[in-house]
Amino acid sequence: MKQTTINKSFSISGIALHSGLDTTVTVKPSGEDTGIVFIRSDIAGSPHIPALTSSVVATSYATTLGVDGVTVATVEHLMAALYGMGVDNAVVMVNGPEIPILDGSAVAFTELIDDVGIRKLDAARKYIVIKKPIKVSEGDKHIYLYPSENMEMSIDYRIDFAHPFLAKQSFSSPFSKDVFRREVVRARTFGFLKDVEMLKANGLARGGGLNNAVVIGDDDILNEEGLRFPDEFVRHKVLDFMGDIALLGHHIIGRFEAYRSGHNMNHRLAVKLLKSQGRFEFSTTGRKKGGSVYVVKPGVPAYVGGAVTA
Ligand SMILES: [Zn+2]
Repeated sequence: MKQTTINKSFSISGIALHSGLDTTVTVKPSGEDTGIVFIRSDIAGSPHIPALTSSVVATSYATTLGVDGVTVATVEHLMAALYGMGVDNAVVMVNGPEIPILDGSAVAFTELIDDVGIRKLDAARKYIVIKKPIKVSEGDKHIYLYPSENMEMSIDYRIDFAHPFLAKQSFSSPFSKDVFRREVVRARTFGFLKDVEMLKANGLARGGGLNNAVVIGDDDILNEEGLRFPDEFVRHKVLDFMGDIALLGHHIIGRFEAYRSGHNMNHRLAVKLLKSQGRFEFSTTGRKKGGSVYVVKPGVPAYVGGAVTA
């Protein structure tokens, strides 16, 4: 499998969820082994912020990257779109401190990547292959990452909010571009009405509204259009998870099991993985029967669990 970039640039503008500012992102092609790099085009000298775990400076309610005090917030949906669509290298120019929230999902980013197309570069893609389990936990919340017998990435994600409307939901699937596009990208950001005042008092969610988030009241959602999937919430958690894991800078061959995780725990897992010498190795080729390292299973029903259990 070769590394990739996009064929040509695309731009999109909109309000940002937490700052409430209008910003524009322009995603441009870039060369092999450059990874994803954010550039704050509104700041003198256009500082560069590599989209890497080592650049993460905050994980409350969104993932924020920063270098030398220059930050870019809420990168996770765009990062998930680039990772899920298989874009290894790109430059992301943004003219403000936060990526636009758009409709709260990653569907617009994904469609734009589809529109411009993806091209292969000469260098081989370097995967992180998990060799021994890596675990992070806090109370009953956890993420376990195991070696994959099938030499693929798979994800099993469960949530339980102990809320009458949103209790247990789960998502379990091998991960591929098809699964990502079909099952994950349309799932929107969500929040509880009871938290909205607290968020706004803390200067967050200034750009939030029913056009870019599912808002959950006492026993129903406030959005008149309803949900896009009965289990849209866990699917969005998977989207966020992908965006955070994308900051490892490499595709992962491993089996993730996440329970009630969030941006902070996702980040902790990535940090622990990178420090876990001997628990993973880099690989550019498959180790199983000499075949492709990335096993995509088209046509396999992706979605296993997930009923809303009130
Ligand atoms: Zn999100």
